[in-house]
Amino acid sequence: MAVKHSAPKGTFDVLPSEESSRELVATHAGKLLDAAGYGRIETPAFEETELFARGVGESTDIVTKEMFSFSDRGGRELTLRPEGTAPICRAYVEHGMHKDPQPVKLWYAGPFFRAEKPQQGRYRQFNQIGAEAIGTDSPLADAELVVLLDELLRGLGITDLELRLGSLGSPEVRASYREELRDYLREHESSLSEEVRGRLDTNPLRAFDSDHEGTREVMQRAPTILERLDGEDAEHFATVRSLLDAAGVPYTLDPSLVRGLDYYTRTVFEFTCDRLGAQSGIGGGGRYDGLVELLGGPSTPAIGWAAGVERILLALEDEPPLRRPEVFVVCAEPRRAFETALGLRRHRISAQLDLAARAFKGQMKQANRAGARFAVIVEQDGSVKLREMESGEQRDIDPADLPEAVIAAREA
Ligand code: AMP
Repeated sequence: MAVKHSAPKGTFDVLPSEESSRELVATHAGKLLDAAGYGRIETPAFEETELFARGVGESTDIVTKEMFSFSDRGGRELTLRPEGTAPICRAYVEHGMHKDPQPVKLWYAGPFFRAEKPQQGRYRQFNQIGAEAIGTDSPLADAELVVLLDELLRGLGITDLELRLGSLGSPEVRASYREELRDYLREHESSLSEEVRGRLDTNPLRAFDSDHEGTREVMQRAPTILERLDGEDAEHFATVRSLLDAAGVPYTLDPSLVRGLDYYTRTVFEFTCDRLGAQSGIGGGGRYDGLVELLGGPSTPAIGWAAGVERILLALEDEPPLRRPEVFVVCAEPRRAFETALGLRRHRISAQLDLAARAFKGQMKQANRAGARFAVIVEQDGSVKLREMESGEQRDIDPADLPEAVIAAREA
């Protein structure tokens, strides 16, 4: 018996009509990041589970409830990658990139997987574009990356963006602040949500993320880490801020900005877009000065970000133009239509032909429907006409000069 299947929950098909806008995003990102000296890296779609458990953090949402993990036939524990930074740091260490001139600047694009509850803008397989500068503690790198993400999003035409900026300080400052916050939360334990209470010991910072009303009230009066940054952390943060001011990138300071991954230190940032509704985060990142070392490499400061392609597409105001053929070949003789279209394509002219045995009139209609700019009409006797579809203007051309004639008409 035949059974109809659907794409798994939280996944989607990308149809040809939707592909051109994705390509536009990928091309724009690639050009921007290449020009800034970032080289593209590709890592596998799955990694050892342990990499994410260590690299992302045992108590994070990602690791505790969002990973697609499985054992392979040899009993190895593997996970479909939920994020890109831990795999890239793994690759940095594995390939000895610390011996290359520093920083190593990398970018990536591809699918990521998280078992989240699906909704608009939140999927179980989604695409990210990301960039990382590994091997630099300079605040210039922080500012460069924030500016690149800003340019990526604005360059695509996304307006109403907001940049939230914070700092988590060094691990030491964070540890003592964590204690202070934990004590504060204990004093107000009865007003907190069960989830926050459950994580008081492992991850008190996550209380800032809570939607629970009682918790939110308590958090409004909580001490913030920005008030606790010490000398070098404070100086680093001040420099990042002044570089962003100089670059004309506006931001709001958000002392409660806690990203869902454990590895961040110092600068953290997130771009949000109101048009996206509940899932307003469009891209973000931060410094992860301890991660490479945690994954067995030398002590190596680094910073990076990731942006969601589907959220970028949702935030885009204008639909990008549909991909239209330049030429539709109209010819009652199929072999001749085939050869004519191929001949045009060899000159890098996008050409289509009828593949459904339509009569001459039906082919003209199809040329229109396909949105072709020109029809190349090949008559029975071999004579050729070039017709501009929109104006209906039509003229005879020498069949031997067909590609040149199309190229000239295209530029006219
Ligand atoms: P994160 O690593 O969680 O900061 O994610 C970086 C970006 O990836 C977010 O700002 C979103 O644009 C996108 N993203 C994260 N999770 C999902 C998801 N489940 N579905 C779609 N996009 C996502």
